[in-house]
Amino acid sequence: MSQPVTENQSLEQALETVTLTVDADNYILSLSSNWEAVAAAGNAADSLACQKVIGKPLHEFISSDTTRMYVETCLKLCRLKKATLFRPYRCDSTTHKRFMELQLTPLDNQVVEMKHFLLKQEPFETPLHFEDISHDAHALPQLLRCSMCNKVRPIQGDHWSAPEHYQTGSGSTPVIHTICPDCNGMVWQKRSRPR
Ligand SMILES: [Zn+2]
Repeated sequence: MSQPVTENQSLEQALETVTLTVDADNYILSLSSNWEAVAAAGNAADSLACQKVIGKPLHEFISSDTTRMYVETCLKLCRLKKATLFRPYRCDSTTHKRFMELQLTPLDNQVVEMKHFLLKQEPFETPLHFEDISHDAHALPQLLRCSMCNKVRPIQGDHWSAPEHYQTGSGSTPVIHTICPDCNGMVWQKRSRPR
């Protein structure tokens, strides 16, 4: 069921908001108190336990080189512009489209706060199972999947389409994450006052 956020409801009250901060070299400094609860909901309670995340470089938790480079460029942009920047993205689960927003705020000493808002979620008609095989050099991917908008593209094709339009059949579809051309070219917007 769709869960729109109403105007008089703060986002934090309505749905989960996860915050982390990274230092000048993009090492993780701090996590919001709900971090472990959200990681558990995503079945990553063990791999994303706080003591395994704080002090580690952010790139260790990003699954492909293209996505890593993209995120590092965005952090650099935030520090250079010295402004709070935001843009939408998707972080789908197997059962739901999850419409998110990432907000980057520059703090003192080149620290950047990365705030992830869950704006709304809608169920897929049928659950989608994608398996990220970016770390497995021997596995054969069927699709490229954009880390920002979650659209997918056949390895041999050039058309990006919504993940629910791609029939995965039974079992999980092996994917490699990347950033699609639309997301690569999307401009970050400046937020004049913090949420
Ligand atoms: Zn995209």
